[in-house]
Amino acid sequence: HRTVGVFALQGDVREHVHVLQTLGARTRLVRRAADLDGLDGIVLPGGESSVMDRLAGIMDLKAPLAQALREGLPAYGTCAGLIMLAARIENPAPGQGSLGVLDVTVRRNAFGAQVDSCEEDLSVPAVSADPMHAVFIRAPAVLEVGEGVDVLASVPCDRLSGPAPAGRDGTVPDDLPVAVRQGSLLATSFHPEVTGDWSFHREFLAGL
Ligand code: GLN
Repeated sequence: HRTVGVFALQGDVREHVHVLQTLGARTRLVRRAADLDGLDGIVLPGGESSVMDRLAGIMDLKAPLAQALREGLPAYGTCAGLIMLAARIENPAPGQGSLGVLDVTVRRNAFGAQVDSCEEDLSVPAVSADPMHAVFIRAPAVLEVGEGVDVLASVPCDRLSGPAPAGRDGTVPDDLPVAVRQGSLLATSFHPEVTGDWSFHREFLAGL
């Protein structure tokens, strides 16, 4: 059995623990650096990335976690967890940083209109043969991806609540990534842990 950590200073920790345990993994709540010892992977939950970032700093977890990720600890981030992994945040909260390991630029709170939420049926051929129902809750958009990043699923730009970003060549893309993979890092803008489709968790565990 693999031991998978769940970053547990803030966010929907219990939902991820439930999914991981149901899929046969051993789980460990990660609140301090020592909790990282011997993990096979770590999940960064949904929640509020600015709070996660601040608490991780206060608890002296941020630097050791970033180091473990740079050294190859596999990670799966959902929503706020994606923002935590991202190298660049277009609109950080004051003082907000990140773990800086996933070569993407994200925009926080980018989807939907009044309540900043929306749902989509996604095609994610790399992970699931069936369409995946995805729930976006004040979710980040991925505006740019680096060369080593594979896009696993996208949504049309008109789902954004604000202006679509122009790419480096000045043109606005039709779609934006909502699921990405870079080596052993997996990240989604949406929350599979709150729907019944656990394909991404299965995919993550299969790679450990
Ligand atoms: N808006 C949140 C953030 O900036 C993410 C929301 C979520 O995880 N559902 O971190």
